[in-house]
Amino acid sequence: MPELIVDLAEARKFLQEKGAGTCIVQIPEGLKGKTTWIIDELKGSCDNVFVKMDPCYGACDLPLHDMKALNADAIIHIGHGPIHRNKNILYITCRYDLSEQEIRENANRLLKELGKRGARNIALIANAQYQHALPALKKILFENGIAAHIGAGTSRIASEGQVLGCNYTVVESIQAGIDANVYFGDGHFHPQGLVFSTTKPVIAVNPLHGTVEEISEKNRDRLMRKRFAAVAKASEAKSFGIILSVKSGQRQKEKALELKKAIERAGRKAYLLEMDLVVESYMAGVKVDCLVNTACNRIVLDDAENWKRLIINPTECLIAIGEKKWEEWKPDEFLH
Ligand code: SF4
Repeated sequence: MPELIVDLAEARKFLQEKGAGTCIVQIPEGLKGKTTWIIDELKGSCDNVFVKMDPCYGACDLPLHDMKALNADAIIHIGHGPIHRNKNILYITCRYDLSEQEIRENANRLLKELGKRGARNIALIANAQYQHALPALKKILFENGIAAHIGAGTSRIASEGQVLGCNYTVVESIQAGIDANVYFGDGHFHPQGLVFSTTKPVIAVNPLHGTVEEISEKNRDRLMRKRFAAVAKASEAKSFGIILSVKSGQRQKEKALELKKAIERAGRKAYLLEMDLVVESYMAGVKVDCLVNTACNRIVLDDAENWKRLIINPTECLIAIGEKKWEEWKPDEFLH
Protein backbone atom coordinates (compact mmCIF):
# COMPACT_ATOMS: atom_id res chain seq x y z
CA MET A 1 0.00 0.00 0.00
CA PRO A 2 1.36 3.50 -0.84
CA GLU A 3 2.83 5.40 2.07
CA LEU A 4 2.04 9.02 3.04
CA ILE A 5 5.26 11.02 2.91
CA VAL A 6 5.74 13.84 5.43
CA ASP A 7 8.93 15.65 4.38
CA LEU A 8 10.06 18.29 6.86
CA ALA A 9 13.28 19.36 5.07
CA GLU A 10 11.57 22.48 3.68
CA ALA A 11 10.18 23.32 7.13
CA ARG A 12 13.65 23.10 8.71
CA LYS A 13 15.09 25.41 6.03
CA PHE A 14 12.16 27.86 6.39
CA LEU A 15 12.52 28.07 10.18
CA GLN A 16 16.31 28.44 10.03
CA GLU A 17 16.14 31.20 7.43
CA LYS A 18 13.59 33.03 9.55
CA GLY A 19 15.63 32.55 12.69
CA ALA A 20 12.34 31.47 14.27
CA GLY A 21 12.40 31.19 18.06
CA THR A 22 8.82 29.90 18.37
CA CYS A 23 6.65 28.17 15.79
CA ILE A 24 3.26 26.49 15.71
CA VAL A 25 2.85 23.31 13.68
CA GLN A 26 -0.68 22.52 12.59
CA ILE A 27 -1.51 18.96 11.55
CA PRO A 28 -4.64 17.10 10.44
CA GLU A 29 -6.20 14.53 12.77
CA GLY A 30 -4.68 11.64 10.81
CA LEU A 31 -1.15 12.82 11.61
CA LYS A 32 -1.56 13.28 15.38
CA GLY A 33 0.40 10.04 15.85
CA LYS A 34 3.43 11.84 14.40
CA THR A 35 3.28 14.73 16.92
CA THR A 36 6.40 13.85 18.94
CA TRP A 37 8.29 12.83 15.80
CA ILE A 38 7.54 16.24 14.23
CA ILE A 39 8.77 18.09 17.33
CA ASP A 40 11.93 15.95 17.46
CA GLU A 41 12.58 16.58 13.75
CA LEU A 42 12.18 20.37 14.01
CA LYS A 43 13.77 21.12 17.36
CA GLY A 44 17.23 21.85 15.89
CA SER A 45 15.68 24.51 13.62
CA CYS A 46 13.50 26.36 16.13
CA ASP A 47 13.80 26.63 19.95
CA ASN A 48 10.11 26.21 20.81
CA VAL A 49 8.04 23.99 18.55
CA PHE A 50 4.35 23.76 19.52
CA VAL A 51 2.08 21.30 17.76
CA LYS A 52 -1.52 22.50 17.82
CA MET A 53 -3.93 19.90 19.18
CA ASP A 54 -7.28 21.50 18.28
CA PRO A 55 -8.93 19.78 15.32
CA CYS A 56 -7.92 21.09 11.90
CA TYR A 57 -10.00 20.26 8.84
CA GLY A 58 -8.19 22.25 6.18
CA ALA A 59 -5.93 25.11 5.18
CA CYS A 60 -8.99 27.30 5.80
CA ASP A 61 -8.33 27.03 9.52
CA LEU A 62 -4.94 28.63 10.24
CA PRO A 63 -4.06 29.28 13.93
CA LEU A 64 -3.53 33.03 13.48
CA HIS A 65 -4.94 33.88 16.93
CA ASP A 66 -2.58 31.34 18.54
CA MET A 67 0.30 32.88 16.63
CA LYS A 68 -0.43 36.26 18.24
CA ALA A 69 -1.09 34.76 21.66
CA LEU A 70 2.20 32.83 21.70
CA ASN A 71 4.14 35.55 19.90
CA ALA A 72 5.18 32.88 17.41
CA ASP A 73 7.36 33.71 14.40
CA ALA A 74 5.94 31.12 12.02
CA ILE A 75 3.22 28.57 11.32
CA ILE A 76 3.99 25.28 9.60
CA HIS A 77 0.73 23.90 8.22
CA ILE A 78 1.05 20.23 7.30
CA GLY A 79 -1.30 18.23 5.10
CA HIS A 80 -3.05 20.73 2.83
CA GLY A 81 -2.12 23.01 -0.07
CA PRO A 82 -2.05 26.79 0.48
CA ILE A 83 -5.26 28.81 0.48
CA HIS A 84 -3.85 32.09 1.79
CA ARG A 85 -0.27 33.11 1.09
CA ASN A 86 1.61 34.71 4.01
CA LYS A 87 5.38 35.06 4.40
CA ASN A 88 5.28 33.61 7.91
CA ILE A 89 3.30 30.52 6.96
CA LEU A 90 4.71 27.47 5.23
CA TYR A 91 2.43 24.75 3.85
CA ILE A 92 3.82 21.24 3.64
CA THR A 93 1.58 19.15 1.39
CA CYS A 94 1.96 15.46 2.20
CA ARG A 95 1.87 13.12 -0.78
CA TYR A 96 1.20 9.45 -1.22
CA ASP A 97 4.26 7.78 -2.61
CA LEU A 98 2.83 6.03 -5.69
CA SER A 99 5.15 4.03 -7.93
CA GLU A 100 4.79 4.06 -11.72
CA GLN A 101 3.52 0.48 -11.47
CA GLU A 102 0.81 1.45 -8.94
CA ILE A 103 -0.37 4.34 -11.13
CA ARG A 104 -0.50 1.97 -14.12
CA GLU A 105 -2.55 -0.61 -12.21
CA ASN A 106 -5.06 2.06 -11.21
CA ALA A 107 -5.15 3.37 -14.78
CA ASN A 108 -5.95 -0.13 -16.05
CA ARG A 109 -8.86 -0.49 -13.61
CA LEU A 110 -10.14 2.91 -14.72
CA LEU A 111 -9.75 2.06 -18.42
CA LYS A 112 -12.00 -0.99 -17.93
CA GLU A 113 -14.71 1.17 -16.33
CA LEU A 114 -14.45 3.86 -19.01
CA GLY A 115 -14.59 1.18 -21.71
CA LYS A 116 -17.88 -0.16 -20.28
CA ARG A 117 -19.35 3.33 -20.49
CA GLY A 118 -17.89 4.25 -23.87
CA ALA A 119 -16.35 7.33 -22.20
CA ARG A 120 -13.44 8.87 -24.14
CA ASN A 121 -13.20 12.37 -22.67
CA ILE A 122 -12.81 12.84 -18.95
CA ALA A 123 -11.93 15.46 -16.34
CA LEU A 124 -9.21 14.27 -13.95
CA ILE A 125 -9.15 15.59 -10.39
CA ALA A 126 -7.48 14.71 -7.09
CA ASN A 127 -6.95 16.09 -3.62
CA ALA A 128 -3.61 17.52 -2.45
CA GLN A 129 -2.21 14.10 -1.48
CA TYR A 130 -2.63 12.62 -4.98
CA GLN A 131 -2.54 15.62 -7.32
CA HIS A 132 1.13 14.96 -8.22
CA ALA A 133 0.12 11.64 -9.84
CA LEU A 134 -2.34 13.19 -12.34
CA PRO A 135 0.14 13.93 -15.20
CA ALA A 136 1.39 10.29 -15.18
CA LEU A 137 -2.18 8.98 -15.08
CA LYS A 138 -3.17 11.31 -17.93
CA LYS A 139 -0.27 10.03 -20.06
CA ILE A 140 -1.26 6.37 -19.61
CA LEU A 141 -4.88 7.17 -20.43
CA PHE A 142 -3.80 9.09 -23.56
CA GLU A 143 -1.78 6.07 -24.75
CA ASN A 144 -5.01 4.11 -24.47
CA GLY A 145 -7.17 6.53 -26.44
CA ILE A 146 -8.68 8.54 -23.55
CA ALA A 147 -8.42 12.34 -23.50
CA ALA A 148 -8.04 13.34 -19.86
CA HIS A 149 -8.31 17.04 -19.04
CA ILE A 150 -6.77 18.62 -15.94
CA GLY A 151 -8.27 22.04 -15.26
CA ALA A 152 -7.10 25.11 -13.35
CA GLY A 153 -9.13 26.51 -10.47
CA THR A 154 -9.59 29.83 -8.68
CA SER A 155 -7.00 31.44 -6.39
CA ARG A 156 -8.10 29.14 -3.54
CA ILE A 157 -6.68 26.16 -5.44
CA ALA A 158 -2.92 25.56 -5.20
CA SER A 159 -2.35 23.18 -8.15
CA GLU A 160 -4.02 22.15 -11.41
CA GLY A 161 -6.58 19.40 -11.03
CA GLN A 162 -6.73 19.80 -7.26
CA VAL A 163 -10.07 20.02 -5.51
CA LEU A 164 -11.08 21.11 -2.04
CA GLY A 165 -14.32 19.96 -0.47
CA CYS A 166 -15.58 23.52 -0.94
CA ASN A 167 -14.11 24.27 -4.36
CA TYR A 168 -14.49 22.27 -7.59
CA THR A 169 -13.61 25.08 -9.99
CA VAL A 170 -10.96 22.89 -11.68
CA VAL A 171 -13.73 20.97 -13.42
CA GLU A 172 -16.03 23.88 -14.26
CA SER A 173 -14.24 25.19 -17.35
CA ILE A 174 -13.88 21.68 -18.85
CA GLN A 175 -17.32 20.20 -18.14
CA ALA A 176 -18.82 20.96 -21.57
CA GLY A 177 -16.99 18.34 -23.64
CA ILE A 178 -16.47 15.53 -21.15
CA ASP A 179 -18.25 12.22 -20.56
CA ALA A 180 -17.29 11.76 -16.89
CA ASN A 181 -15.36 13.23 -13.97
CA VAL A 182 -12.71 10.98 -12.47
CA TYR A 183 -11.48 11.54 -8.91
CA PHE A 184 -8.16 9.91 -8.06
CA GLY A 185 -7.72 9.52 -4.31
CA ASP A 186 -9.09 7.91 -1.19
CA GLY A 187 -12.29 8.59 0.75
CA HIS A 188 -15.73 9.77 -0.35
CA PHE A 189 -15.55 13.36 0.88
CA HIS A 190 -14.16 14.93 -2.30
CA PRO A 191 -16.02 12.92 -4.97
CA GLN A 192 -19.23 13.32 -2.97
CA GLY A 193 -18.81 17.12 -3.02
CA LEU A 194 -18.31 17.05 -6.77
CA VAL A 195 -21.73 15.45 -7.14
CA PHE A 196 -23.25 18.81 -6.12
CA SER A 197 -21.26 20.71 -8.75
CA THR A 198 -21.86 18.62 -11.88
CA THR A 199 -24.57 16.61 -13.58
CA LYS A 200 -22.00 14.37 -15.34
CA PRO A 201 -21.04 11.00 -13.80
CA VAL A 202 -18.50 11.05 -10.96
CA ILE A 203 -16.16 8.04 -10.83
CA ALA A 204 -13.82 7.53 -7.85
CA VAL A 205 -10.56 5.61 -8.30
CA ASN A 206 -9.18 4.68 -4.89
CA PRO A 207 -5.45 3.79 -5.08
CA LEU A 208 -5.36 2.62 -1.45
CA HIS A 209 -8.16 0.06 -1.86
CA GLY A 210 -7.72 -0.68 -5.57
CA THR A 211 -11.38 0.14 -6.31
CA VAL A 212 -13.24 2.06 -9.01
CA GLU A 213 -16.83 3.11 -8.31
CA GLU A 214 -19.40 5.56 -9.53
CA ILE A 215 -20.90 7.64 -6.77
CA SER A 216 -23.03 10.18 -8.55
CA GLU A 217 -26.06 8.28 -9.82
CA LYS A 218 -27.03 6.76 -6.50
CA ASN A 219 -26.39 9.91 -4.48
CA ARG A 220 -27.40 12.99 -6.45
CA ASP A 221 -31.19 12.57 -6.34
CA ARG A 222 -31.22 11.54 -2.70
CA LEU A 223 -29.07 14.51 -1.69
CA MET A 224 -31.08 17.04 -3.67
CA ARG A 225 -34.38 15.75 -2.27
CA LYS A 226 -33.02 16.40 1.23
CA ARG A 227 -31.94 19.92 0.36
CA PHE A 228 -35.32 20.63 -1.24
CA ALA A 229 -37.13 19.44 1.90
CA ALA A 230 -34.92 21.63 4.11
CA VAL A 231 -35.58 24.71 1.97
CA ALA A 232 -39.34 24.05 2.02
CA LYS A 233 -39.24 23.89 5.82
CA ALA A 234 -37.07 27.02 6.05
CA SER A 235 -39.58 28.96 3.94
CA GLU A 236 -41.93 28.81 6.95
CA ALA A 237 -39.32 30.08 9.42
CA LYS A 238 -39.95 33.44 11.04
CA SER A 239 -36.50 33.83 12.61
CA PHE A 240 -33.01 32.92 11.35
CA GLY A 241 -29.67 32.61 13.15
CA ILE A 242 -26.86 33.48 10.73
CA ILE A 243 -23.67 31.61 11.63
CA LEU A 244 -20.36 33.34 10.93
CA SER A 245 -17.14 31.39 11.57
CA VAL A 246 -13.99 33.41 12.33
CA LYS A 247 -11.74 30.73 10.81
CA SER A 248 -9.24 32.35 8.41
CA GLY A 249 -10.56 30.69 5.24
CA GLN A 250 -14.22 30.36 6.18
CA ARG A 251 -14.97 33.87 7.42
CA GLN A 252 -17.67 35.53 5.30
CA LYS A 253 -18.70 38.65 7.18
CA GLU A 254 -20.05 40.49 4.11
CA LYS A 255 -22.17 37.53 3.12
CA ALA A 256 -23.56 37.22 6.66
CA LEU A 257 -24.49 40.92 6.71
CA GLU A 258 -26.10 40.73 3.25
CA LEU A 259 -28.15 37.74 4.38
CA LYS A 260 -29.30 39.62 7.46
CA LYS A 261 -30.55 42.49 5.29
CA ALA A 262 -32.29 40.10 2.87
CA ILE A 263 -34.03 38.24 5.69
CA GLU A 264 -35.22 41.49 7.24
CA ARG A 265 -36.41 42.74 3.83
CA ALA A 266 -38.55 39.59 3.71
CA GLY A 267 -40.18 40.63 6.99
CA ARG A 268 -38.44 37.95 9.13
CA LYS A 269 -36.02 38.26 12.02
CA ALA A 270 -32.27 37.70 11.64
CA TYR A 271 -29.65 37.25 14.38
CA LEU A 272 -25.87 37.12 13.87
CA LEU A 273 -24.09 34.23 15.65
CA GLU A 274 -20.30 34.25 15.71
CA MET A 275 -18.12 31.24 16.52
CA ASP A 276 -14.92 29.45 15.54
CA LEU A 277 -15.76 25.77 15.11
CA VAL A 278 -19.39 25.38 14.04
CA VAL A 279 -20.92 22.87 16.47
CA GLU A 280 -24.65 22.52 17.10
CA SER A 281 -24.38 22.13 20.88
CA TYR A 282 -22.70 25.56 21.14
CA MET A 283 -26.00 27.08 19.99
CA ALA A 284 -28.25 25.12 22.35
CA GLY A 285 -31.03 27.32 23.68
CA VAL A 286 -30.74 29.96 20.93
CA LYS A 287 -34.34 30.63 19.93
CA VAL A 288 -34.46 30.76 16.14
CA ASP A 289 -36.47 28.64 13.70
CA CYS A 290 -33.65 28.08 11.25
CA LEU A 291 -29.84 28.36 11.18
CA VAL A 292 -28.01 29.67 8.10
CA ASN A 293 -24.38 28.59 7.83
CA THR A 294 -21.92 30.94 6.10
CA ALA A 295 -18.92 28.78 7.17
CA CYS A 296 -17.76 25.59 5.39
CA ASN A 297 -20.58 24.61 3.01
CA ARG A 298 -19.98 20.90 3.65
CA ILE A 299 -21.33 21.21 7.20
CA VAL A 300 -24.77 21.54 5.64
CA LEU A 301 -24.32 19.44 2.50
CA ASP A 302 -22.88 16.42 4.33
CA ASP A 303 -24.10 16.70 7.85
CA ALA A 304 -27.41 18.62 8.07
CA GLU A 305 -29.33 15.40 8.64
CA ASN A 306 -27.34 14.79 11.84
CA TRP A 307 -28.38 18.16 13.26
CA LYS A 308 -31.48 18.37 15.44
CA ARG A 309 -32.02 21.97 14.27
CA LEU A 310 -32.84 23.03 10.75
CA ILE A 311 -29.65 24.32 9.08
CA ILE A 312 -29.26 25.55 5.50
CA ASN A 313 -26.65 27.26 3.30
CA PRO A 314 -26.82 30.94 2.15
CA THR A 315 -28.30 30.30 -1.32
CA GLU A 316 -30.91 28.03 0.24
CA CYS A 317 -31.83 30.84 2.63
CA LEU A 318 -32.38 33.21 -0.29
CA ILE A 319 -34.59 30.61 -1.98
CA ALA A 320 -36.53 30.06 1.26
CA ILE A 321 -37.31 33.77 1.64
CA GLY A 322 -38.23 34.18 -2.03
CA GLU A 323 -35.17 36.14 -3.24
CA LYS A 324 -34.01 33.31 -5.50
CA LYS A 325 -35.69 30.44 -7.35
CA TRP A 326 -35.01 26.75 -6.69
CA GLU A 327 -33.45 26.54 -10.19
CA GLU A 328 -30.75 28.89 -8.89
CA TRP A 329 -29.67 26.44 -6.14
CA LYS A 330 -25.91 26.07 -5.88
CA PRO A 331 -23.58 24.41 -3.35
CA ASP A 332 -22.15 27.74 -2.09
CA GLU A 333 -18.56 26.89 -2.90
CA PHE A 334 -15.74 29.02 -1.47
CA LEU A 335 -14.01 30.51 -4.46
CA HIS A 336 -11.23 32.60 -2.83
S1 SF4 B 1 -13.99 25.26 3.99
FE1 SF4 B 1 -14.52 23.12 4.45
S2 SF4 B 1 -14.18 21.99 2.57
FE2 SF4 B 1 -13.14 23.97 2.35
S3 SF4 B 1 -11.03 23.58 2.94
FE3 SF4 B 1 -12.16 24.26 4.78
S4 SF4 B 1 -12.88 22.39 5.80
FE4 SF4 B 1 -12.28 21.85 3.69
